[in-house]
Amino acid sequence: MSVKQNYERISEQIKAAKILANRNDDVTLIAVTKEVSADVAKEVLAEGIMQLGENRFEGLKDKQEQIQDDVVWHFIGSLQTRKVKDIIHRIDYLHSLDRLSLAEEIQKRATEPLKCFLQVNVSGEESKHGLDPSEVLEFARQLAEFDKVKVVGLMTMAPFTENELIIRNSFKGLKELQEKVKELQIANIPCTELSMGMSNDFEIAIEEGASFIRIGTDLVGKGRV
Ligand SMILES: *Cc1c(COP(=O)(O)O)cnc(C)c1O
Repeated sequence: MSVKQNYERISEQIKAAKILANRNDDVTLIAVTKEVSADVAKEVLAEGIMQLGENRFEGLKDKQEQIQDDVVWHFIGSLQTRKVKDIIHRIDYLHSLDRLSLAEEIQKRATEPLKCFLQVNVSGEESKHGLDPSEVLEFARQLAEFDKVKVVGLMTMAPFTENELIIRNSFKGLKELQEKVKELQIANIPCTELSMGMSNDFEIAIEEGASFIRIGTDLVGKGRV
């Protein structure tokens, strides 16, 4: 399957999920290119998808060196504190803010506010990064004094399961939390967005209110060069 064919299919799926959920607002598709080469990323751009997601500094740097187009860059991987200074000026969105030390480093190094999602481990799986849901409100309050950290929303990865109900409930849980954080009405924490949904579960995520979906395998395949 070509990127073009994949994108046609995914577009139809997005449209159908929005109709099912009675939604007219935007769902932004982030093409996750972490597993593929810059040439495949260029096929994505040729389809008019200008939002790319990478999860490692090296992959990001490599793509940026080979791509001249006006791309919106999303960093979706966990970020080591010592890498902050190298990465923040290269990206438009960070999807993995999950600890105070990371926010402190962004505050120290950034010259303008960085758009961030708080990563939440809704399912509580050991293997996943992210804040425990019970920590999110307190963490948001702590970020109120960080004017270089702009919390645009919350991000999660659904649990690794075939059980649709469990997946759906984790997305519902993230939405409830997002609304609570938004209600804090903190200036640098608008928290209006939801980054959730990947190849296996993006339709459920859209039904549950995702505004950014992150699709890799379904769109570009894996290990393609
Ligand atoms: C790899 C990755 C994706 C894309 O996953 P696919 O299943 O390939 O669509 C989305 N979000 C994050 C955080 C990822 O690491």
